[in-house]
Amino acid sequence: MPDDLLERLRSFHDDAFPTQRSLFRHLVDDGQHPTTLFIGCSDSRLVPYLLTGAGPGELFLVRNVGAFVPPHDQSAGFHGTAAAIEFAVLHLDVRRIVVCGHSHCGAIRALYGGASPEATHLAQWLELGREAALPVAEPGPEVLRRSEQRAVVLQLERLMAYPMVRERVEAGRITLHGWHYVIEDGEVHVFDIARGGFVPASVADNAGTAPYRLDDPDVMLDASGVPSAS
Ligand SMILES: [Zn+2]
Repeated sequence: MPDDLLERLRSFHDDAFPTQRSLFRHLVDDGQHPTTLFIGCSDSRLVPYLLTGAGPGELFLVRNVGAFVPPHDQSAGFHGTAAAIEFAVLHLDVRRIVVCGHSHCGAIRALYGGASPEATHLAQWLELGREAALPVAEPGPEVLRRSEQRAVVLQLERLMAYPMVRERVEAGRITLHGWHYVIEDGEVHVFDIARGGFVPASVADNAGTAPYRLDDPDVMLDASGVPSAS
């Protein structure tokens, strides 16, 4: 039986790798020095390398269901995302942290019901997005879009609770970027604090500004509590 996955592995080794052999050699000899920590949803339609045009060695990737950042609560357990944040900031000395949510996100949809009762870890994990959900029983596309964007802002708030992140952001050594990728448009909307909302990259004048807080009096929020889009 033909093994499609094996074929792809061979194709990478035989066809793709030779074109970048020297780059990988350099990344092995010199080590990795990624400048960006990219925290993205695991959704298969979100492809960070395509969005950013990054190549090998440029992005330190953390992906999970919902692109969530767990609280810095020092609790016991196996905290993969928190460990990756610490490693990227303390050991790799990244200069940017991107949190990237997206349209049609199953994690955000699941905040309104639908997760399998068997998925106990998933149910617990989704609580990291709970505050982003709006008080409606049957969310339409607009509510889901706002919830997805609110979730991004919420994760950036949590990032600021990591002492090593806060310290570097306040010292101007790290910048935080909240992104919402609209799959069907192929466009990232970046959160711009000065413009009070998510702005399509095509008309934005920066790649997102932070830190910010949902309860920041300087941020204009609409009635549903989401930063208003300009
Ligand atoms: Zn998602």
